[in-house]
Amino acid sequence: MPDVCVLCKERAQSEQDFDTRAIHFKCQTCGDYWITRNLADDEPEALAAARFALAPYLRHENLQGTIPRLDSENWKQSAARYRNVSLQQKMDRILDYISSRTTEYRQVVTIPVVQDFPLLLARSYQEAFALLAETDRLGLISCDNTSGGGWSGYLTLEGWNVSQTGHQNYRPNQCFVAMWFVKDLAAIYTSVIEPSIRKCGFDPVRIDKLQYNDKVCDRILAEIRRSRFLVADFTGHRGGVYFEAGFAMGLGIPVIYTCQADHMKDAHFDTNHYNHITWTDGADLGERLTDRIQATID
Ligand SMILES: [Zn+2]
Repeated sequence: MPDVCVLCKERAQSEQDFDTRAIHFKCQTCGDYWITRNLADDEPEALAAARFALAPYLRHENLQGTIPRLDSENWKQSAARYRNVSLQQKMDRILDYISSRTTEYRQVVTIPVVQDFPLLLARSYQEAFALLAETDRLGLISCDNTSGGGWSGYLTLEGWNVSQTGHQNYRPNQCFVAMWFVKDLAAIYTSVIEPSIRKCGFDPVRIDKLQYNDKVCDRILAEIRRSRFLVADFTGHRGGVYFEAGFAMGLGIPVIYTCQADHMKDAHFDTNHYNHITWTDGADLGERLTDRIQATID
C-alpha cells in the first residue's frame, strides 16, 4: 500500500478500499481525497505534473466539507479550473484568505504557507512567499513575522477596504461572456455559447443575466477579475466588449475571441490580428468554441 501521496510524492496517510478499487489519501499539502487505482496506476506522471492545479481544487473542496474522488473521467476537468491562474488572481486570493480569517482590524493571521500554499492558488510555497511579499509591498497586507514555514500578518486599512468589497474571490468555474446584448444574438447565446461553456465544465456569467445592486461597471470588472477565462464575441463591435476583453487581458485572464464572419471586416485594428473564431451560424460556432475552450484552459 503506497504511503506517499500520488500527487506530490511526500509522505501521506493512506488506506485502500478493495471493493471500489480506490485509495484514500490524507496529504498535508494536497488535501484529503480518494483516487481510483486505475488512475493512480495509469497516469502517475500526468498526475504529478498536474499537482499544482489539483491541490488547490482538492483543498478548496475540503474547505467546503467534501472529499473529492479523482477518476480517469473527471480529473482533467478538475485540474483545468486551477491551471494558469493569473498573478492578480493569486494576490486577490491572499487578501480573501486573510480577510476570511479576520474579525477585527489589525488582527494577526498566521498562514502555514508550506502546507497551505495550494489554498493561495500558488504553484509552490516559494511562489506563495513571493506573492505575500509583493502584496505587502503594494501596501495591502503587513507582515508581522515569517518563521517555521509560516507567515503572520494582517490586512492594512487599504487591504481591508479592498477585501470588504467581496469581489476578489477567485471563481474557478466561472467564464465571463462579453457580447452585444441584442435580440439576434440572444439565440446564439442560449443555444450555442452557453451550452458550449457548460459542456466544458464551466458556468457562464453574462452581466445582463445577473441580479445586482451595485453599479453595473464595478460589477462587470469584479466578475471579470474573478473569472477563469472570458469569451468575447465582437459581432456588432460594441465598445463594452472591447473594454471587457482588454481589462481581462491586462489581468492575465485568457480571452477567447469570436465574431460573426460578416462583421470581421469591421474589427478594430488593435485586436483584428488576434485569432478570432469567425462563425457563420450556431452549428459552426458551437464545436469550434468547445475545442478552443479546451485548448485555452488546458
Ligand atoms: Zn500531496
